[in-house]
Amino acid sequence: MQQTAHFHLMAKPSSFHCNIKCEYCFYLNKEEIVTHQTRFMSDETLENYVRNYIESQAHNTVNFVWQGGEPTLLGLDFFKQAVRFQQKFANGKTITNAFQTNGIALNHQWAEFFKQHNFLLGISIDGLAEIHNKYRISVNGQPTFERVAHAIELLKQHQVEFNTLTVVNDQNWDKGKQTYQALKALGSTFMQFIPIVETGACRSSTNIQNFSVPQQGYGRFLVDVFQEWLKEDVGKVFVIEFDNLLGQWLGYPSSSCVHQQTCGSSMITEANGDVYSCDHFVYPEYKVGNLNQQPLAEIALSDAQHQFGQAKKTTLTRYCQSCSLQKLCHGGCPKHRILSLAGEEFKHNYLCQSYQLFFRQTAPTMRKMRDIIRFGGDIRSVMDVES
Ligand code: SF4
Ligand code: SF4
Repeated sequence: MQQTAHFHLMAKPSSFHCNIKCEYCFYLNKEEIVTHQTRFMSDETLENYVRNYIESQAHNTVNFVWQGGEPTLLGLDFFKQAVRFQQKFANGKTITNAFQTNGIALNHQWAEFFKQHNFLLGISIDGLAEIHNKYRISVNGQPTFERVAHAIELLKQHQVEFNTLTVVNDQNWDKGKQTYQALKALGSTFMQFIPIVETGACRSSTNIQNFSVPQQGYGRFLVDVFQEWLKEDVGKVFVIEFDNLLGQWLGYPSSSCVHQQTCGSSMITEANGDVYSCDHFVYPEYKVGNLNQQPLAEIALSDAQHQFGQAKKTTLTRYCQSCSLQKLCHGGCPKHRILSLAGEEFKHNYLCQSYQLFFRQTAPTMRKMRDIIRFGGDIRSVMDVES
């Protein structure tokens, strides 16, 4: 009997290759770290990936997530083949596809394909044009905002479901309200905001890169968006960070790994089938297997992957351990634990001040929303209470 497990596996079939050159991209410098010579995933690895992932999943629904680099570089035929393999190996399971892209290469053919096969698109766009164009630039240094906005129009025209992924950085952390309004104007009703904190290619470095969000900045940004969202958009616009937090207030674990107690259930595969513990830890010492050589469930349940996951909990600072917000926060992502505090054995999270701000400032409203849901009310009524 085939061994199965509960885990996610995100695919990077184009490895670190991309058709633009965002200044803050943490994956472009993987050229120095990802040692394999495979530029793009081969048909053979694709077939092994699809079969192995479906067979290894304990769930009846198998979620494929395509990311990069930039996955459109592989061309439409690669994804048509992926869908054919999914149909061939589905074995009664439900298959879904999510596709994260910068939008640059999208055209009518791509949009028709996404619609036909119900792909959920994630579009990377930083909201305001001038902010987006600061870092999200072409290989020749040209702005890309207009091309991405055009891609969104195409998706709307073809009724492809999409969400937006926006990076919070040194340029926009104090423009939460304007960024939110710009994304709404583009037609986004599902938003995600991720903080950028980079220390450069050298992992032991504590030199924060200039484009990184300030320590309090991510929290300030989220609180500003939250206040704007509360005015008229509850139940109409969905912000992943707010949904996750509300879920926690209702007693569920966060659906974001960042605020779960342990890591380890979100692995990635590189173009040659090498599997790593997490997208944020694509380094040789975190390579846990290769999907061409062993069942993915075996890799997911391996000691190495288990230890990677537990380390999040066992390396919490004492400051985190005594924090009243720990149950909501769990110390955040280990990648962001880069601060040395006096008397601490382990590094502390750079975004701690942001998390404190966000969790504390939203608490009164979260409490109200939780109670409305518990008593079977309409979540939108929180807007009457707040106004
Ligand atoms: S290391 Fe960070 S991104 Fe990776 S699973 Fe853990 S919390 Fe998530
Ligand atoms: S808010 Fe700060 S101290 Fe509290 S658990 Fe999170 S990172 Fe740790």
